[in-house]
Amino acid sequence: MTDTPADRPDLRELPDEEFRDRFRAFLAEHHPGRPPKGSGRLPWQKAWLATLYDAGWAGPSWPREHGGMDLPFGKQVIWQEEYARARVPGPLGTGLGIAAPTIITYGTPEQKERWLGPMLRGDVVWAQAYSEPGAGSDLPSLRTTARREDDEYVVTGQKVWNTSADIADVLFTLVRTGTPESRQKGISYLIVDAHAPGVTIRPLRDLTGGTHFTEIFFEDVRVPVADRVGEEDDGWKLVRTSLGHERAAGAMNQAALYRRVLTELVDLARELGRTSDPLVRDALADLEIRLRIMRLTGMRTISDILAKGEPGPASSTSRLFIVQFEQDIHEVAVDLLGEYGALGKDDPHAVQRGRWVWGFLRTRASTIGAGTAEIQRNTIAEQVLGLPYDPGMPPR
Ligand SMILES: Cc1cc2nc3c(=O)[nH]c(=O)nc-3n(C[C@H](O)[C@H](O)[C@H](O)COP(=O)(O)OP(=O)(O)OC[C@H]3O[C@@H](n4cnc5c(N)ncnc54)[C@H](O)[C@@H]3O)c2cc1C
Repeated sequence: MTDTPADRPDLRELPDEEFRDRFRAFLAEHHPGRPPKGSGRLPWQKAWLATLYDAGWAGPSWPREHGGMDLPFGKQVIWQEEYARARVPGPLGTGLGIAAPTIITYGTPEQKERWLGPMLRGDVVWAQAYSEPGAGSDLPSLRTTARREDDEYVVTGQKVWNTSADIADVLFTLVRTGTPESRQKGISYLIVDAHAPGVTIRPLRDLTGGTHFTEIFFEDVRVPVADRVGEEDDGWKLVRTSLGHERAAGAMNQAALYRRVLTELVDLARELGRTSDPLVRDALADLEIRLRIMRLTGMRTISDILAKGEPGPASSTSRLFIVQFEQDIHEVAVDLLGEYGALGKDDPHAVQRGRWVWGFLRTRASTIGAGTAEIQRNTIAEQVLGLPYDPGMPPR
């Protein structure tokens, strides 16, 4: 694995169009093809991420010393657009957009060196383990505890709804190191080996029939104190960075992804001979307008990160906008297909292997993950617009 900035081509100075052409050519030449079924899928995806990393095309916003490209703003947008257009596999796990910016901001030099490169290359898959059965929107009430014994913590508790944790090697998690009542003043940010003794990860089936998330049980799991990011009891500060990035992470790549998806939906409407129906035209035009707004909002979020280092509470605006859009585009699609819209991939009459109904079912959860739509609205009201705090929440 080549790992030093000196080994990688520096693409930052290329003119934008040349950059776009080069990346497009790279993606076309190295495209991994269709995914294999079953257990071959994970190694296939890892091999693709390694190809991208080794050629210097991974991590458009990441620092170069950790294997990224450190691209200026305009090129990050181009990178996202070309990546979505090429239909190549995305990142594995949830570490890249959430844990990595937190480690880059708060990690020690040793932690950055140890964790970031292998995460970006796809060698080590990371998953987020924050939520608990009694602590989702009200995350500061979490109850998983970490008891200190010399240079180790002993972690006990349960987490739930952890996306991709079934394929994870590492979990980034929040634990209570303070008293049970300490809320955000007694939380620490720990990195836990997903294969350590005492860690049990069980898949949970969702509406699509797939197992996209899991529940995790920690029973006296021993974690070195050196694997804590930030200070003991001061993890809440990191959570704010982490959640801001989680909400912002999708901003630009979702706009690029949905550019392609909306074009495919318009093509489908054409194939079905429905583009002269005024209701269909109206729905497609509405989606087109919202997609363009999404792109501009995504650009604003990235430029905020570049200017201030943090996405801040305004990331809730783009998150809310995207999740409503992705629910609506799938609703339009299944409506357009009429009774065929309900057929899943195993039905011989399914249109495009049931992708639209799959997306319809999957995106029901979009207004829950990374903070529910209600919580995003509270954040916008309180922290962006400066309205009074929710009287129903405990005092901060
Ligand atoms: C697709 C998906 C992926 C996820 N991935 C992960 C992951 O990788 N890692 C992880 O740790 N967690 C993950 N989660 C969990 C997610 O963060 C929680 O589900 C979410 O924070 C909501 O918590 P909850 O389910 O406990 O619902 P609750 O917090 O119990 O909320 C129930 C309802 O009450 C409403 N509500 C709660 N408080 C307020 C308030 N103050 N004002 C107004 N309304 C309120 C909510 O909006 C919701 O409608 C994921 C969830 C989904 C759906």
